[in-house]
Amino acid sequence: MSKFKELGLCKEITDALADIGYETPSEIQEKAIPQIINSVADLKAFAQTGTGKTAAFSLPIIEQIKTDSRATQAIILSPTRELAIQIERNIKEFSKNIKGLSSLCVYGGSNITNQIKSLKRGAHIVVGTPGRTVDLIKRKALKLEDIQWVVLDEADEMLNMGFKEDLDKVLSVTPADKQTLLFSATFPQEVERIARNYMDNPIEITAGTKNKGADTVEHEYYLVSERNRYATLKRIVDMNVGMYGVIFCRTRRETQEIADKLIQDGYSADSLHGDLSQGQRDFVMNKFRKKKLNFLVATDVAARGIDVTDLTHVINHKLPDQLESYTHRSGRTGRAGKEGTSIVIISSKEKRRIGQIERMIKKKFTPKEVPTGKDICSVKLMQYVDKIKSLEVAEDKVPDNLEEVTKQLKKLTKDELIKRFVYNEFETLLNYYQKAGDILADNSKSHDRVADENMQRFFVNLGQMDELNPARMIGMINDHLDKKIDIGQIEILKSFSFFEADKSFTEEILKAFEGANRNGRRISVEKTEKPKTRSRNRDRGRGGSGGGRDRNRGGGDRKRSGGGGSGHRKGGNDRNKSGSGFRGARDNKEGFNRKTEKSSRRRRTRD
Ligand code: AMP
Repeated sequence: MSKFKELGLCKEITDALADIGYETPSEIQEKAIPQIINSVADLKAFAQTGTGKTAAFSLPIIEQIKTDSRATQAIILSPTRELAIQIERNIKEFSKNIKGLSSLCVYGGSNITNQIKSLKRGAHIVVGTPGRTVDLIKRKALKLEDIQWVVLDEADEMLNMGFKEDLDKVLSVTPADKQTLLFSATFPQEVERIARNYMDNPIEITAGTKNKGADTVEHEYYLVSERNRYATLKRIVDMNVGMYGVIFCRTRRETQEIADKLIQDGYSADSLHGDLSQGQRDFVMNKFRKKKLNFLVATDVAARGIDVTDLTHVINHKLPDQLESYTHRSGRTGRAGKEGTSIVIISSKEKRRIGQIERMIKKKFTPKEVPTGKDICSVKLMQYVDKIKSLEVAEDKVPDNLEEVTKQLKKLTKDELIKRFVYNEFETLLNYYQKAGDILADNSKSHDRVADENMQRFFVNLGQMDELNPARMIGMINDHLDKKIDIGQIEILKSFSFFEADKSFTEEILKAFEGANRNGRRISVEKTEKPKTRSRNRDRGRGGSGGGRDRNRGGGDRKRSGGGGSGHRKGGNDRNKSGSGFRGARDNKEGFNRKTEKSSRRRRTRD
């Protein structure tokens, strides 16, 4: 008997699973499928990407859908369009033998009228991104009366991406007796809040260890100076023959730049980020999926829905701002039981973050040395020799004058011949690495404070005194902009702070904060210069009272405002007011109905 049948799935489904090669249920599937089939209790599942969670929630829902009704019975929310499409594609595969079962994917950025028409035709399962789903609910195109299941897939990511209100909305307007299934890789406060407010005594299940990266992933880091980051990336790629991976960058510009450089240097790479149109993104993803590209250079958000199971590597060209994103990044490799490696390129100032990640994922990183030119040449040479050894020669295509060639070459000894053949093939590479020098020898030099030229630095008249911390700073920026953007370095000082953000958002940021207030106090955000000095003294001053232009400027600003001159601060009382922190307002309950009771639902079966 099929192992999936033992979990309570019907033959139509188990046959479909056999067709796509699912033989043994994964841990999360083993735990979630019978639970969802046999109980109406809400479910809180700790599951990383790549654990098979899509099937874990989709299969028991498909099993129980009533196909004799046309009503929508399940809503599945996912953070990105790509992931939503992937889930719905899986659902279609899983349910291909079930007559009359229909599913639909809805997402922003595409024609809503067509989606409304499709909904009118009926869809038992709707998979959607939160914003578009709420939109369709508001337009009464997505009917809720018969909703039996709401799935929040990658709940932490949805909240990270600012979909808090949309999730609240969907959960509060769907019928009280629905079964809520929440899947998340991490459980920060905001996810717990959703669970607390909208779930009744949820059953908890875990696949793997909470907050931990996939066990099949090895973690490595390369410590290099800032200016050698790209050269290191190339050497890592050169050393790892057959690498098929995602290179993560923090900003769209950085992503495009790295992809452009790699392409220019002859690597099979392309970029995936939010500045590309959907058509361009689909095109790149298709090429990558078909392995016509070895490397996808991507931002975190764009890479969320990558549906590729056999990535050999994930490279963090730069670490993400939020450490939890590292779990998501590294989780793109080592999927479905395969082995993978997550590589981090760091500069000395980021080194402490390795320790933080190690504590988070409960695994140690292996420090690696940047391969020397000689190492790379030798790997490439052996690769070339292997190719020559296994080359199948089409006899009819060999030139006629082979005899003459042989006669000429006979004058050389075998060793001489091999030497020339290797030199001829590798001259460019050898010359390149001779000129490139040794990256290791460079590490001791202090180049780390070279600023990222794609980032704009901003001054904010709020600091530690205002209970500002990096997470709150990011939250505040995203809230005002009403979207998530790439934030660079953040410096929180006593009474003022600095942050860097993708240059292309400069005007938008300044506009977003125009007239902005926090607890009655005006927030002032201004453009400022990036630090140009790289002296050790300045470094030591970080986080303290330190000198330098920025600090003088900031200090002056606070002084001015403290005296009421610039109007940035109204006075001491204001400080007290804001002392309670600016999260309060956002954390208020939104007044949506909290689910209070769940009627015992009649089990539905198709037959
Ligand atoms: P997910 O975590 O749902 O994104 O799944 C990760 C990958 O594993 C997907 O490509 C699935 O198709 C694959 N997968 C999930 N469950 C199984 C299974 N039981 N057997 C084989 N492959 C699976």
